[in-house]
Amino acid sequence: MEALKKAIQERGNVLSDHVLKVDSFLNHQVDVELMAAIGTEFAKRFADEQITKVLTIESSGIAPSFMAAHYLESPLIFARKKKSLTMNDHVYVSQVYSFTKQETNDITVSKDFLQAGDRVLIIDDFLANGQAAKGLIEIVEQAGASVSGVGIVIEKSFQNGRKLLEEQGYRIESLARIAALSDGQVRFIEDRLT
Ligand code: 5GP
Repeated sequence: MEALKKAIQERGNVLSDHVLKVDSFLNHQVDVELMAAIGTEFAKRFADEQITKVLTIESSGIAPSFMAAHYLESPLIFARKKKSLTMNDHVYVSQVYSFTKQETNDITVSKDFLQAGDRVLIIDDFLANGQAAKGLIEIVEQAGASVSGVGIVIEKSFQNGRKLLEEQGYRIESLARIAALSDGQVRFIEDRLT
């Protein structure tokens, strides 16, 4: 998606060979126009999937998935990283390991909002090693619902998340695929073909 790639090139910061900072339009300040375009693109790609729920993880997945859910005319659910005081045991729980933080956290979704028969589109801001997506998939499975696909805003294709999910047979749609982050530069997958 060209507008997203342009935003990454012009407004992203390469923090290291593994980490891209996009606080200026996605992870802290949010470019609402760009989110609308991202939501439109996800809705177009998954238009034939009869999505009944969009599922993401707080907090950075919320902005892009909110717009996708809007255009897909579906509710949006965000998994919580901390169990809220008003959440009892009526929840689905899975564990997400973060390579960057080197810690495992529970994520939870209330049983009220996901049911067997739901066709779920999972959306997240980044795909790195696939652990967040895997945790969300496990929650969908606990509900007896089905995963119709995984939509990713920025995929770091040099990490193994896509491989992990594709091996399990999931459809992944990434709007920007990064081949490498090195020397402070972002190189996209397509760049290698030209
Ligand atoms: P995974 O679970 O696929 O290993 O990592 C994805 C999660 O880690 C995303 O939800 C995202 O919040 C975070 N993440 C991974 N890599 C990056 C990165 O390069 N930049 C930012 N801002 N977040 C990242």
